Amino acid sequence: MRHYLDYNATAPLLPAAAEAIKAALEIYGNPASVHHAGREAKGLRENARRQVALAVNAPTASVIFTSGGTEANHLALYGCGRERWLVSAIEHSAVLQLNPYAETIPVTERGLVDLTALATMLARDPRPAVVSVMLANNETGVIQPLADVVRLARQFGALVHTDAVQACGKIAVDFTALDVDMLSLSAHKIGGAKGVGALLVKSNITLTPWLRGGGQERNLRAGTENLLGIVSFAAAAASVPVLLRGYAAVTAVRAELEQALRSAGGEIVGAAEARLPNTTCVIMPAVDAEKQVIGFDLAGFAVSAGAACSSGKVKPSHVLRAMGYAEDKARCAIRLSLGFNTPATIVPSVVQVWQSLAALPQRVAAA
Ligand code: PLP
Repeated sequence: MRHYLDYNATAPLLPAAAEAIKAALEIYGNPASVHHAGREAKGLRENARRQVALAVNAPTASVIFTSGGTEANHLALYGCGRERWLVSAIEHSAVLQLNPYAETIPVTERGLVDLTALATMLARDPRPAVVSVMLANNETGVIQPLADVVRLARQFGALVHTDAVQACGKIAVDFTALDVDMLSLSAHKIGGAKGVGALLVKSNITLTPWLRGGGQERNLRAGTENLLGIVSFAAAAASVPVLLRGYAAVTAVRAELEQALRSAGGEIVGAAEARLPNTTCVIMPAVDAEKQVIGFDLAGFAVSAGAACSSGKVKPSHVLRAMGYAEDKARCAIRLSLGFNTPATIVPSVVQVWQSLAALPQRVAAA
């Protein structure tokens, strides 16, 4: 029996999304063509734009389809043309890796972007800036104080981009109420297909395209649209109310799980702040994340390491390091990210696996 507890990495395709793809397989037109086949494809694309906008209370015209969250972040940050980039230390690599000259906004030990530091950074340099702070962190689930970030940025004339890839579908996301200038989404995190996403942009922001060529997406994103991906995104977006109800119920499963993990010696990261309802980042002292992930996999549970593996070495999580965790702890964190329908019945077996893995260092020492 296999259990998937890695919804923050990607979510299984929703049946509604699979159905939408199947139906669209018959639609072969290019949305740019003026004939009936093109108009049919264009109709699907524009319906999808409405659905995606509706899911996050945004104007339909604000939606620019992209190849995913990564490209949406590129388009936002390079496209807005600001000289200074201020990005939080806990952003996904799809923001952190974009610009070596970006300035890093530190976070507190509880995992929240440090607003005092942001104010100081904004005040010390008058060049036009863009601030990028994610809505919720992919490793800890900690929800960021976006309203405060926007208030501060406005005082200094800076634009605000938020990567809402993890937040969408798990907590209510309201583009209009957030009042950010740009917001990134990804379909595969909410049960749509991989390789499609969107950047939402306020009407007063002028972007320079990142991908140039044809005039698709109002000249902002060249390339014939991934219509199958887009229709799956629309179906997943239409399911957001169902996902939100499911994830709200999963809060209780997560609470039970965390209580049991704490009793077994685990340390829950970011627990002092409001978090996504499905995400648990937990440190198992003295057992490398990689060993834990393999151990869980052998026991039938898909979980992920807070640490990234690069050139054969497991690096400690940059998120935990930014929160002030020592390297030895930061390399022992794993992430369990539950699905909107994960049942409470998984808790005892997860905890059992956890306990057997946590006993590993003692067993090695005794041998
Ligand atoms: N931003 C965050 C916070 C993510 O978690 C991810 C995916 O893991 C991305 C961006 C990248 O999205 P995509 O896989 O659609 O490029």
